Amino acid sequence: MLEARALYKSFGETRALVDVSFTLAHGKVLAVLGPSGSGKSTLLAALAGLEPPDSGLVLWGGQDLTATPTHQRGFSLMFQDFALFPHLNVAANIAFGLKMAGHTAAEQTARVTEMLALVGLPGFEKRDVNNLSGGEQQRIALARALAPAPRLLLLDEPLGALDRALRERLLADLARILRATRQTAIYITHDQDEAYTIADQVAVMNAGHIAQLDTPQALYRQPTSPWVARFLGLDNILDGQARAGTLETAAGSLPYPGPARGPVQVLLRPDAATLGDTGEISLRGRLTEKALRGGLQSLWLEVNGIRLRFEFPAAVALPEVGASLTLHLPPSGLQVWPE
Ligand code: ADP
Repeated sequence: MLEARALYKSFGETRALVDVSFTLAHGKVLAVLGPSGSGKSTLLAALAGLEPPDSGLVLWGGQDLTATPTHQRGFSLMFQDFALFPHLNVAANIAFGLKMAGHTAAEQTARVTEMLALVGLPGFEKRDVNNLSGGEQQRIALARALAPAPRLLLLDEPLGALDRALRERLLADLARILRATRQTAIYITHDQDEAYTIADQVAVMNAGHIAQLDTPQALYRQPTSPWVARFLGLDNILDGQARAGTLETAAGSLPYPGPARGPVQVLLRPDAATLGDTGEISLRGRLTEKALRGGLQSLWLEVNGIRLRFEFPAAVALPEVGASLTLHLPPSGLQVWPE
């Protein structure tokens, strides 16, 4: 098991890691998700031993690795721009770490065959890596990283350079491979969909600290702060005043049975609205805009001058732009944080 304990790292005035602690069980995948500059790469470098933390510990199975050099940690790294060795063919690239570790030629050959089958490129042994497509190169890089059976695989935006369709396909393959091999891994990304696809747990980073660490489902359903909610695309966050039974907001007075009192922030979940007359909370406004993205369509409802965004499956027929509209939400469509 991996443990990060109270890691701190600053670059001059910039606090890149602030009290970062977590554990990761064997065979599990942790995604580290956050905006650019939030400390993700610094965390990876500290775990790998590439950049020592100012303070704090990195432990494996309770053993302190802080003074262990990178190549003796038993970890593999895969970066977006971690190039294959151009003068070696595919087999020699994959066998590189095995050779370094002193495996026999027969062991190397067997492992290379196994890895190529795993990443979906059987028979590629003799190919020149310079003549592979971008997706094939990343599959070979993954095979090279997995070949030594590392106790931890560290991936830093490994699919970032690929186009969207290829990225989605490779991501699904990568998720399958990590589960099939029970590979313990940390996957760095700024893309929440990638994090949800690949990870058992997601650590959301903001300004050097972990803002929330949860399963993908819990993270999306129960963001613990307005910042996390906004980062996950759950907009519609309003200032409000909670009183007995109601919330006063700029979008009107909403029924509220919860415990908070006084100034609060309120999320009207974009994914919780319905067109039918079924929810307890109703919002009347004007439909000002619609947009289709992936399998979802968004509509913007202007209520008392406030623009709110709601999502519906693409198959739902929505009124035309300009129409007056009442949307309904169940009580679970509200989330309230005390100020
Ligand atoms: P992320 O990977 O989330 O984009 P980083 O870990 O790269 O974030 O950076 C976190 C913060 O630390 C940023 O403000 C970045 O500018 C700063 N930083 C990272 N590496 C260095 C460095 N070698 N020297 C100075 N500042 C750095």
